[in-house]
Amino acid sequence: MALKIPDAPKVGMVSLGCPKALVDSERILTKLRSDGYALSPDYEGADVVLVNTCGFLDSAKEESLEAIGEAIAENGRVIVTGCMGNEAELIRARFPQVLAVTGAHQYEDVVHAVHEAAPPVPNAFVDLVPEGGLKLTPRHYGYVKISEGCNHSCSFCIIPSLRGKLASRRIDAVLREAEKLVAAGTKELLIISQDTSAYGVDVRHEERVWKGETIRTHMTDLARALGGLRTPQGETPWVRLHYVYPYPHVDQVIPLMADGLLTPYLDIPFQHAAPNVLRSMKRPANEAKVLERLASWRSICPDITIRSSFVVGFPGETEADFQYLLDWLDEAQLDRVGAFRFEPVEGAQANDLPNPVAPEVTEERFQRIMQKCAEISAAKLAAKIGRTMPVIIDEVGDPDEDGSVGATARSQADAPEIDGNVFLRDIDPALAPGAIIEAVIEDADEHDLFGVPA
Ligand code: SF4
Repeated sequence: MALKIPDAPKVGMVSLGCPKALVDSERILTKLRSDGYALSPDYEGADVVLVNTCGFLDSAKEESLEAIGEAIAENGRVIVTGCMGNEAELIRARFPQVLAVTGAHQYEDVVHAVHEAAPPVPNAFVDLVPEGGLKLTPRHYGYVKISEGCNHSCSFCIIPSLRGKLASRRIDAVLREAEKLVAAGTKELLIISQDTSAYGVDVRHEERVWKGETIRTHMTDLARALGGLRTPQGETPWVRLHYVYPYPHVDQVIPLMADGLLTPYLDIPFQHAAPNVLRSMKRPANEAKVLERLASWRSICPDITIRSSFVVGFPGETEADFQYLLDWLDEAQLDRVGAFRFEPVEGAQANDLPNPVAPEVTEERFQRIMQKCAEISAAKLAAKIGRTMPVIIDEVGDPDEDGSVGATARSQADAPEIDGNVFLRDIDPALAPGAIIEAVIEDADEHDLFGVPA
């Protein structure tokens, strides 16, 4: 008689917030999966629902609270974790029925709470965790978090109080994780942290041995070692560095990009350009020579894409400061820009700064910066028409009436979920997500490119 395997308890997951929170969700699920839990794609089938919250902005908090409310209404058995977990009282006041509240990165506590709420089936035959862990992102790209927390104290940010001081992971552990992901089929690694350039500062750049060589816990050593990874097919995976501050040592990774070992892409959150706004924002690596640095990076690696984000309407920002920012953008010619309206975050020092900017002025500046960035982006993308470039396929479409198949892809200039796309026509229907092919660019708009396989 066949052995009846008891059903594994099922866990549902709602993951809100930034890529860093997504990495946490993946870790939690990997651990639960290895403890014998199954995942439920909907509320109905779940024995317990985990809500991984974001508490960065007030609007994100509200979204988190709504998600908790929805999970309670739909399922009733809810555990809250993530950044908002630090506000347990607020959550419990609004939703007394939540089973447990744990803070960001308290993996053991979350897992313990799940064990309490839905005990694992003893001796269940558990699914093996796939190599590389369980991922919520598609298999062909994966986030690797290299550190937690931050040593800065930007006046608009509460991350250091939520997540603590910089705590870097061991470089050999980071590289092992990256290597496993690539061996398991990941074609693109996204390196994330709060401050990638500061990696290892907290451990005085301690040395570790990796593949017989001594390497420092340092962004440049990490970049070099990541550039040495190869997929099982012998290809160099794409490796993107996010949240990089322009400290002098960033110059050392540009030649790796020029040599094709690192993706020529840097995500540098400048946030502003006017010196007095940067001062009152207390931004790190806030030096005058950024424009010269950008020019020198482009002379070494002409294809480098610089992505950044900016805040408008910061307290004290004058029209002259804002105009300075627009002029700076004209010169900097950044490839990808995200703009945000300043929003006070509960607990941030910036809330007490004098001379708040009126909401209608902030809105008007926001529209102007968006317009400026759209113009720069459109011109930069138009310049790519006619070029052939590698693209990674994210999604293959269904055949249209003539049987031709299109795909949504990205170039090296596009990070998943935050930048643009390359929409391809007439692709080989046998191509799967994660395939990297050469494409000829035929057209462009403000954000996206359109092309065909070369
Ligand atoms: S660098 Fe500034 S904005 Fe970024 S996490 Fe640290 S304090 Fe916050």
